[in-house]
Amino acid sequence: MTYIKSNGILRYEFESFRDAPILHGIFTRNGGVSPAPWASLNLGGTVGDSRENVIENRRRIFESIQRNVNTLYDVWQVHGIEVIRATQPRNGNPHIPGDAMITNNPYLTLLMRFADCVPIFLYDPQNNAIGIVHAGWQGTIRKVVQHTITAMMSDYGTIPGNLLAGIGPSIGPDHYFVGNDVIDQAKAAFGRDWLNFFQPLNQSITFDLWSTNYYLLEEIGVHHIEVAGICTACNTDHWYSHRAEKGKTGRFGAIFALEQ
Ligand SMILES: [Zn+2]
Repeated sequence: MTYIKSNGILRYEFESFRDAPILHGIFTRNGGVSPAPWASLNLGGTVGDSRENVIENRRRIFESIQRNVNTLYDVWQVHGIEVIRATQPRNGNPHIPGDAMITNNPYLTLLMRFADCVPIFLYDPQNNAIGIVHAGWQGTIRKVVQHTITAMMSDYGTIPGNLLAGIGPSIGPDHYFVGNDVIDQAKAAFGRDWLNFFQPLNQSITFDLWSTNYYLLEEIGVHHIEVAGICTACNTDHWYSHRAEKGKTGRFGAIFALEQ
């Protein structure tokens, strides 16, 4: 893991992406204008924070990476498995529901929002294509990351073994307690392997979203996988955590773009 500070804004980068002709990062919650409980670099437009604050925070992020905000493409994240093929900037058009975006257009900057769910970055150096995924428990169990790679295979000719993948800051297995509804769906989705992803802790059961998505990446043929290993709930000074902050919090931004 590496932290980069640019124009007062801190972002996390994957070391395995360092020499690639891409721009990526997961922004911490610091350096923005939003008041508590969204303090301060909140990118979430549906969490109660003002529209003006969110727009100013977004401006700061784009300024820090020296991209024009007009290159933005983002979606309405709904905990599903829809993969959106981004071909041009959203440009004020309504958000399309989706939980993954792929593109090979270097003039787009993909943006997603997180507060415990898992950001997964996919870079195909052979075909100069990228994908970014939002995987909470529902998206993980419904294998959204595999749906995203399948879309990259069909649209760009991606070979999974060539992909570089990064699993970003999100709620860790030490903090992610789940109920029987989640366990039942995981049993149905993973068969006997479900046992690898759940552990007893303090008379309850935790779900390991990191190792589950790692498994899903490996299962489809990805070998190069970097895991940030940063738990949002353990580190609310740097990250928003829906669980740790009992739903009263913001959303941090993750951006991914091909160099222009
Ligand atoms: Zn934790």
